[in-house]
Amino acid sequence: MHVEEMADRRSRPRLRPLKRRRIGEGLSTVRKEGLTMTDTLRKSRILDAGRTLAFLAGSFSLAFMLQVVVHELGHYGAGMLAGARGGTVFLHPFYTSRVVFASDPGLAGQVLVGIAGIILDVVVATTLTVLLWKKRSQLALPFLAWGAIAYFGEGLGMIGSLSLYAGSQGARVYDDVTNMFRIGAPSIAIWAVAIVFAVVGLVMMALIVPAAGVGPKDSIWKRLASYAAFVPLYFGVAVMYIRAFSPTLDNLEVRTQQLIMGSAAALLLAALHRPIQRVAGLVVKPRPVLQPRWSDVGVVFSAGAVAFTALIAYSALM
Ligand SMILES: [Zn+2]
Repeated sequence: MHVEEMADRRSRPRLRPLKRRRIGEGLSTVRKEGLTMTDTLRKSRILDAGRTLAFLAGSFSLAFMLQVVVHELGHYGAGMLAGARGGTVFLHPFYTSRVVFASDPGLAGQVLVGIAGIILDVVVATTLTVLLWKKRSQLALPFLAWGAIAYFGEGLGMIGSLSLYAGSQGARVYDDVTNMFRIGAPSIAIWAVAIVFAVVGLVMMALIVPAAGVGPKDSIWKRLASYAAFVPLYFGVAVMYIRAFSPTLDNLEVRTQQLIMGSAAALLLAALHRPIQRVAGLVVKPRPVLQPRWSDVGVVFSAGAVAFTALIAYSALM
């Protein structure tokens, strides 16, 4: 190794012959080329940023829809196992999805049904993240995004359930995780899991966005736009869709909360992008910076459109 390096160093001057140029020679062409190059560079930088934002928005949308389906199937499967009958799964890309059973199982079964959605989602997301983390394919991003969204979304969902429970004084409102209170689960443990999930999700987001072309030297504005396209944009579109087609309070409230929380996450991530990458990078290497191609953007948007149409068609048939 050492000998090869020495040989390489010795041979280098022979590989790069010295060029002699008279002072002033070719200066006007350089200046002209310089101007054109700046313009081209600026244009390609804008196009790169456009591809980054589109790729992140498409990846999030696809991942979110897949994640919703798996979460609800977790509830449904657990219900079937626990002996519930007459289960109906409501799925929609923008309205809140849920599972309703004609006959509920016993208390232990209801607790299992409640947490099964979260467990299946997190297990699938973690498996995908572990399997795809080192894959250099650009198209791993939507599945890695699923990992991040599963942790962040389930964490925030749990915090929402806990807050709803804390706020409901007379008639208790039991949700996915708060059902566990009925069998004596300690509140502090559920809060701890919820906060850890939300933080893990945020850190994962900061580690995967380089796969969409967000580099360490990018400005705060590009980072902010990237994270805004990645997290809250989908919920912004959902809020507009619900207002236009079915302004029911229930759906609108959930998506508006997600829009607010997603925007806060985007701001936080844009500001803390580098420190998170530096600290978390001691344990897990962030994804390498890769600029997506238009074909990658096309693939995620086509897959997202298929998922969207399938969910709309399914909800129309229900
Ligand atoms: Zn659920």
